Amino acid sequence: MESIIKQIEDPELLSQIERLVPFHGYLSSGAFIGLQMFNIARKVLDIREGDRIYVTSETRNCVPDPFQILGGATAGNNRLKIKELGKMAVVVNKQGPEEEAVRGVRIILDAEKTKAYPKLHAWYLNTAKLPHTEVLPELLAAGEKVYSWELVELEVPVRAKKRIQRCEKCGEMFIRYNNELLCGTCTE
Ligand SMILES: [Zn+2]
Repeated sequence: MESIIKQIEDPELLSQIERLVPFHGYLSSGAFIGLQMFNIARKVLDIREGDRIYVTSETRNCVPDPFQILGGATAGNNRLKIKELGKMAVVVNKQGPEEEAVRGVRIILDAEKTKAYPKLHAWYLNTAKLPHTEVLPELLAAGEKVYSWELVELEVPVRAKKRIQRCEKCGEMFIRYNNELLCGTCTE
């Protein structure tokens, strides 16, 4: 793994990886894919340092982490959403005014394009068990060539009014957005 990272010549990519590795635990193929998606989004949407970005990751695995550590879009600040669709895809947008449309970008790891990289393709389609040390060199060589993206229009949601309710069953406090009297635990 160290030897793969040492081959990276782009100093910006290298410093991003140096921040990502301790956060994610190691450089997984999926985390690297998320990192590339973050960089594509930065370019397409002209995201600058300090800009607020909103991310919907279509997988829970690996991909969200570069957006958390490098993009400041975290699970806790609500700028990262995970829609578990099992897809290597993300939708990214910059902050926009409530109720207005904002331009975003949806980026996917494109299986038509990964065909040119046999190990990456086999890993993606799970037709062979391959360690990250074999997949990463192809991901690095491919750069942005294995991704596809399109601009999308997104509606910025209105922030719901926050009210605190005591659950009529268990007595615990919860945030209610509608008129529910029981908490989520008690309505499950
Ligand atoms: Zn309850």
